[in-house]
Amino acid sequence: MSRTPLIAGNWKMFKTGPEAVATAERLTDLTRDTQDVDIMIAPTFLSLPLVSERTRRGTVKTGAQNLFHEREGAYTGEVSAEMIRAAGADYVIVGHSERRLLFNETDQSINLKVKAALNAGLAPVLCVGESETEKDEKKTFSVLDKQVRNGLKGFRSEQLGSLVLAYEPVWAIGTGKTATPDQVNEVHRYIRALMEKLFDKTLANAVRILYGGSVKPENVSELMALEDVDGALVGGASLDADKFVRIINFKTER
Ligand code: PEP
Repeated sequence: MSRTPLIAGNWKMFKTGPEAVATAERLTDLTRDTQDVDIMIAPTFLSLPLVSERTRRGTVKTGAQNLFHEREGAYTGEVSAEMIRAAGADYVIVGHSERRLLFNETDQSINLKVKAALNAGLAPVLCVGESETEKDEKKTFSVLDKQVRNGLKGFRSEQLGSLVLAYEPVWAIGTGKTATPDQVNEVHRYIRALMEKLFDKTLANAVRILYGGSVKPENVSELMALEDVDGALVGGASLDADKFVRIINFKTER
């Protein structure tokens, strides 16, 4: 089964509007001829419409970093899936570990967000991953089981065609530590088998499972060579277009 790789950049709370536009335009120029790799960048909500507009004619798609599950209403400070879609985005990151840890997101609230994203026509990028303590206590698989099972509760396989999963061990995010290729492939294989158990083989074979956690030009080709790794969710190294494009061009990077 061949899955088109997805290289996604999470810009977190970095870049003003003009800075985001400049980086997006540079990336659009650098990836004009890119083929066989899907590219996504997720700027802040404030920059999303501008960045979506400026990248529209190229190969770069956009996404949001979060959403609120209601369509509209008295929810001060929140942004809905419909608003994100109307701003030109195709994707939305859901359940990033920073949101789970710093903003108290739970598998239940994340499940509602996945539902809202799919209803609005956005592809959810559902992030899962264990903390360092959980890894040390050998709880990686049970943590992932719970996060995937509860995050995707109530869906039927045919509703999840656009779903992307991202395995991001919390201890590898922004730390410079990367899981070893063996660890990564074992976990990705586990997640794919779990998707088959929870849904079916067709979805398990089709779903893209990204790896995230200190991905950079120097380690991307080794990770992308793994059978069950279908892309990368990149934080720090996605902020510089010239660096990020080296990750996008992982086939020629070493
Ligand atoms: C992330 O924030 O999703 C991430 C993987 O960050 P970094 O690449 O900086 O570790």
